[in-house]
Amino acid sequence: MSGTQRVMVVEHPLVENSLVALRDIATGTDSFRRHARLLTLILAFHVLEELPTRAIKVMTPLEETDGAVIGRSVIFVPVLRAGLAMLDAMSDFVPGSKVGFVGLERDEETAIAHSYYQKLPSQLAEAETIILDPMLATGGSALATIDLLKRNQATSIRLACVVAAPEGIELLDQRHPDVPIYTAVVDRALNERKFILPGLGDFGDRYFGTT
Ligand code: URA
Repeated sequence: MSGTQRVMVVEHPLVENSLVALRDIATGTDSFRRHARLLTLILAFHVLEELPTRAIKVMTPLEETDGAVIGRSVIFVPVLRAGLAMLDAMSDFVPGSKVGFVGLERDEETAIAHSYYQKLPSQLAEAETIILDPMLATGGSALATIDLLKRNQATSIRLACVVAAPEGIELLDQRHPDVPIYTAVVDRALNERKFILPGLGDFGDRYFGTT
C-alpha cells in the first residue's frame, strides 16, 4: 500500500490484474462483476485492517485455545447504485455488520448531489462506518454522504472506492480531512462530463448490465 495517511492506494498484482479487466471496454458484465468482487475483497483487507479485536477462547476438536474476533461494530454504507457492487464482498468478512443505504441524485444544473433516499442504522456513533462508492469523481456524492453520516453522529468513517480522481480527493481533503480514502488507483482527471479519465466508464451501468 502506498500514499499519504489520507489516501491509501492498495498496490498488489491481483489488484492491477482486476483493474485492467474493469477498465477494458471489451470486458462483459459477467467478468466485470467477478473482477469487481475480487478487487473489493482485497480492498476489504486494507479498509478493515485497523479494526480492534476482542480476545475470546475457542474450543478446537482437541483443546481450548485463545483467539480474537472483530471487537467493534461495522456499518457499511453503499451509495446507490454502484456502491451495491462492493457490498457482498466487504460484508463477507464481517457477517454481523449492519448496512445503511444512501441514494443520491445529482442536480444536472448545479452538479450538487442531494439525497433522495436514506436508511441508516441507529448505532453510527459507536461503529466503524465504511462508505462504499466505487468511483470518486467530483467527490460530490462522497461529500454529501459523509455530511449525512456526521449529522447522524457517525464518528469514525472510511471511504472505499475503486478509482479516485484528484478532484474528488481534493474536495474531501478540504471538507473532511479526517476520512481516509482507500482506492485501487488514483486516475488522471475528469472530463467535461465528470467521467474519470482514463477510468472505466460508468461503473453502475457496466456492473448491472445497463449499458
Ligand atoms: N461514476 C462512474 O461510474 N464513472 C465515472 O467515471 C465517474 C463517476
